Amino acid sequence: TYDVVIVGAGHAGAQAAAALRQRRFAGTIAIIGEEPELPYERPPLSKDYLSGAKPFERLLIRPAAFWHDRDVAMLTGRKVVRIDPDAHTVTAEDGTTTGYGTLIWAAGGHARRLTCSGHHLAGVHSVRSRADVDRMMTELATTTRVCVVGGGYIGLEAAAVLAKLGKQVTVLEAQDRVLARVAGVALSRFFEAEHRAHGVDIRLGSVVDCITGHDGRAAGVRLADGEVIACEMVIVGIGIVPAVEPLLAAGAEGGNGVAIDAHCRTSIPDIYAIGDCALHPNPFADGLPIRLESVQNANDMANVVARALTGEVQAYHAVPWFWSDQYDLKLQTIGLSAGHDTEVLRGDPASRSFSIVYLKDGHVVALDCVNMVKDYVAGKRLVVDRVAANPADLADVGQALKEIR
Ligand code: FAD
Repeated sequence: TYDVVIVGAGHAGAQAAAALRQRRFAGTIAIIGEEPELPYERPPLSKDYLSGAKPFERLLIRPAAFWHDRDVAMLTGRKVVRIDPDAHTVTAEDGTTTGYGTLIWAAGGHARRLTCSGHHLAGVHSVRSRADVDRMMTELATTTRVCVVGGGYIGLEAAAVLAKLGKQVTVLEAQDRVLARVAGVALSRFFEAEHRAHGVDIRLGSVVDCITGHDGRAAGVRLADGEVIACEMVIVGIGIVPAVEPLLAAGAEGGNGVAIDAHCRTSIPDIYAIGDCALHPNPFADGLPIRLESVQNANDMANVVARALTGEVQAYHAVPWFWSDQYDLKLQTIGLSAGHDTEVLRGDPASRSFSIVYLKDGHVVALDCVNMVKDYVAGKRLVVDRVAANPADLADVGQALKEIR
């Protein structure tokens, strides 16, 4: 039995334990994680780790000594399958049972898989864990053609790395633009053009029918219109399924994630949930319940719970931010653009350094900044204060965003 048991050794779980110790929490802490590794950073998996620029050791969120010195028990390689809220215990697949005073569920999500025929063939990969990317990397030497299913951030980042490694890359996106779920039209068009300029074949409105195979390995992707795109590797980047089954089975409210309140509490006493798996009322989404998949959200929710457990109760109100690296482009996003009614372009995309400001009812709700750190930094205040701004002023690059009131 531990005073605090954290399920999930990812960004949120690691930060919760680190923040508890930083706030001088004196109770016992254990982290139970399904993966064999100590907590590591996931974003480089589709960036510097896949490209070979960073070895795994540099992905660790903290070195092993950090956890040891702070007396955080790391129970890795163990998947929790059952929670007993009355007995205050969690049980793992291997049968071990651990008691908790407070449970922090930080289990993230698993990569959503294709369900069509051929989805199990060798050569079909997800990009969620170190093991996924290691498997992919062992096949790269014998791969010349790659099909990426899904034009979201992860699919596009992987496409950029593989194109730079000299692979022939096709991106298959079912919608009429890439990044449709997370960005406005102008940003989608910009990234489509960038990828095409780097030789990536971006196919919009392309619905996958199945993966074709040969000798148990993927040999191509067949589209709904019958066309087959030949390839040796298929990378599937179609989102995640939140890892919340044991919680829901124990009676917690939720569906697409586990429902939490503004203090990260689930509907079950003494159980919090944080990170990618947490369906929460977000002040930057008009208080509507959403899940955010970002390092920012994982860390800030972890801090809310660490505070609550050390006597400083505070609601979650952090401004969402995110980044994506593709080629030499650094995209930085602040706020949530979903639901915007106006997009203002600031600067010239052809210069590869510009921003897009999103407004709703005349108020700034988000910015996407490409190689434009200054706007990203100044934009935070505009989003936090929901500043009512004139689109013509926002579009005027001669006027610094920090001057806009
Ligand atoms: P995770 O980091 O997924 O950690 C959850 C852990 O819990 C996992 O190790 C999982 O195996 C484990 N687990 C699941 N179920 C159980 C169980 N039943 N028992 C025990 N353990 C369990 N975010 C950004 O902000 N910027 C980026 O550029 C960016 N790039 C990304 C690139 C890739 C390839 C990926 C995959 C993600 C990226 N993200 C990025 C998102 C970011 O990594 C996630 O938002 C973040 O990892 C969420 O942290 P988490 O702790 O909630 O979940």
